[in-house]
Amino acid sequence: MDSPKKPLSACATPIERLSASVGGNEVFVKREDLLPFSFGGNKARKARLFFREIEKGDYTHVVTYGAGSSNHCRVVANLAAAHGLACVIVSPEDGYRETANSRLVRLFGAEIVKTPLDAVSATIDRVLEELRTSGKPYFIAGGGHGNVGTEAYVEAYREIAAYEAECGETFDYIFLPSGTGTTQAGLVCGAALAGQGRRKILGMSIARSNPRGGEVVAESVRQYLAAVEFQGEIPAVCFDDSYILGGYGKYNGAVLETVRELMVKEGIPANTTYTGKAFWAMEQFLKAHKIKNKRVLFLHTGGAPLFFDDLGEL
Ligand SMILES: *Cc1c(COP(=O)(O)O)cnc(C)c1O
Repeated sequence: MDSPKKPLSACATPIERLSASVGGNEVFVKREDLLPFSFGGNKARKARLFFREIEKGDYTHVVTYGAGSSNHCRVVANLAAAHGLACVIVSPEDGYRETANSRLVRLFGAEIVKTPLDAVSATIDRVLEELRTSGKPYFIAGGGHGNVGTEAYVEAYREIAAYEAECGETFDYIFLPSGTGTTQAGLVCGAALAGQGRRKILGMSIARSNPRGGEVVAESVRQYLAAVEFQGEIPAVCFDDSYILGGYGKYNGAVLETVRELMVKEGIPANTTYTGKAFWAMEQFLKAHKIKNKRVLFLHTGGAPLFFDDLGEL
C-alpha cells in the first residue's frame, strides 16, 4: 500500500425510518455513523475535506486537538496513518481518560501531547513551531471547526434535500447533537443556500449553555455564508441548551435507557455523550412542545467507539 489512500468515498449516507414512533411522530435517522472510514461519523465527513487540502500540499505532519474521548482525533489519526503522515494530538490533561478512541489513536501511531487546559493554544503553537524546523505540519482545529468543517455539512444538507425531493416529502424538523456547532452551522447554511433558511433545524446542545453555545454556531453560519458571498437573509440558529444535564459527558439513567433501546430495538449504536443524549433531548423537546404527527429527521453524528465505552453500563 504505497499509494496514498483516497479520503473516503463521497456517496450519501442512508436515511432510514425507525420502527418505533417517538411521542406520535415518525422518526427518520440519517446514518452518518455509516460513512465508510474509521467508524464514520461527522468527524469523518469533515476530515475528508481537510485531507483533500492536505493532499494538495507536501505536508509531513497533521496536528490537531481533542480530549481522550474525541472522535475527531481518532478519525484524523487514522487518515494521517493511511496517508503515511505523522500525527500529533494535543489533549487536555485535565480529566483525561483512556477510551476506545484514545486506544485507537495509539494504534494509529499518533503522538499524544498532554497539556493543562489553560496552556492549550500555547502548546499547539509550540508543537507547530518545533515541527516547522524540519517539516511542514498541517493544523486542523479541534472538532474540525471552521469553514471547511461547515462545508462538509452543507454537502450533507444537499443529501437530505435530494432525499426529500426523491420521496416527495419534507421533514418538519431536523434534530442533531450540537457541540462546537460546525455540523449544525453546515446544515443551516445548506438550507439557506437552497432557499430553505426558515426550516426548523434544532441543535440539541450536548455541553454548552446559551448564550455562548448558540452564538458560536451563529458565528460559524455568518463566517461561512460571508465566504461564499451569500446575499440572502442569514437564518436564525436554534441551539437548545435545556438538556445538557450539567455539561459535556454528563448523562442520566434516561439517556442510558435511550442508548439501550436504540441498540436493542433498532440495531443502532448510540452513546451517552452525543447521539443518545441528543436523541433523548429530542424526545423531551417533542413532548415539551406538544409536537405530534410530524415527520422528524435525526442526524446520527456517529461516535461508534463511544458506544463500547458505555456498553459496560448498559
Ligand atoms: C463532535 C461530535 C458532535 C458535535 O459536532 P459539532 O460539529 O462539534 O457540533 C456530535 N456527535 C458526535 C458523535 C461527535 O463526535
